Amino acid sequence: MLDIALLGCGGSMPIPNRFLTSLLIKYKGRKILIDCGEGTQVSMKILKWGFKSIDIICITHRHGDHILGLPGLLSTIGNSGRTKPITIIGPRGIEAIIKGLKLAVPNIPFQVEIIEDPKGLLGVKVSSEGMKVKKTIHEESYNDDFVISTLELDHSVPCIGYSFYIPRRPKFNIDKAISNEVPKELWKKLQSGEVVIYEGKSFEPKMVLGKERKGIKLSYIMDTRPIDTISGFIRNSDLFICEGTYGDDEDLEKAIKNKHMIFREAAQLAYEGDVDELLITHFSPAMDEPELYIENAKKIFYNTNIGHDRLIKSISFKDE
Ligand SMILES: [Zn+2]
Ligand SMILES: [Zn+2]
Repeated sequence: MLDIALLGCGGSMPIPNRFLTSLLIKYKGRKILIDCGEGTQVSMKILKWGFKSIDIICITHRHGDHILGLPGLLSTIGNSGRTKPITIIGPRGIEAIIKGLKLAVPNIPFQVEIIEDPKGLLGVKVSSEGMKVKKTIHEESYNDDFVISTLELDHSVPCIGYSFYIPRRPKFNIDKAISNEVPKELWKKLQSGEVVIYEGKSFEPKMVLGKERKGIKLSYIMDTRPIDTISGFIRNSDLFICEGTYGDDEDLEKAIKNKHMIFREAAQLAYEGDVDELLITHFSPAMDEPELYIENAKKIFYNTNIGHDRLIKSISFKDE
């Protein structure tokens, strides 16, 4: 099971009762933070999920409303007693920016490992010690606890979207193992996804496993126009978190000019991507009550919800 908390739902600047857009993901007791504007750590403090177990920070782009909270947060994580490295992932140019921001907090007691513009997939292994990130090639790799993918978006500076996929291992199928004449001593290894060479013969996991089962998919698309590549990237997400800077259809021109979206466009992406649920966030500070515009999205994609600060959700594997 994966838990998420929307730490904030604002764009541009934090306002009373609405922090800047940021997401905290909790999985197997460890955490990933996505985006960190001014005030993100205040919302985290209210949420009480803790600071020390944040292993990965994903940044969508370098605009202040997504990044200016980082020096303060790194300092707070340091004060929480963390000494293990943290991985920061971001788009082109992120390394220079992180190095600049770190000048404000020169004494943090842990290493920051930066992955700039990871074009391929990143496999993540989770243990009680933390999360370890490395390049991988396959989304359904059972050696990884989850896989991070990124997508280049269309904003006024380099910006990337993220998806997180937790693969679900197929069930062990004893009839298949027997009919494929797989020696019993190999069952466990094959079940864990390993290919085994035994007495000169190669045995593959599919010889003992049942049908593929869908894992958990979460996608996060901020600060962009709705480009064609998004619907494929978010396809079949259990939860699609998307920016909707403006609720009113009449703000379309403003959205085009500022490289953002209106609610209707976010809903159109959710519909095309065949996701289970759309959660809209990143509201313009000029929009006091985003809920007033929910129908603009719902008439295109019914299962739309409007984000609010510290909204919490759990996503589980579907019964099969
Ligand atoms: Zn923004
Ligand atoms: Zn932006």
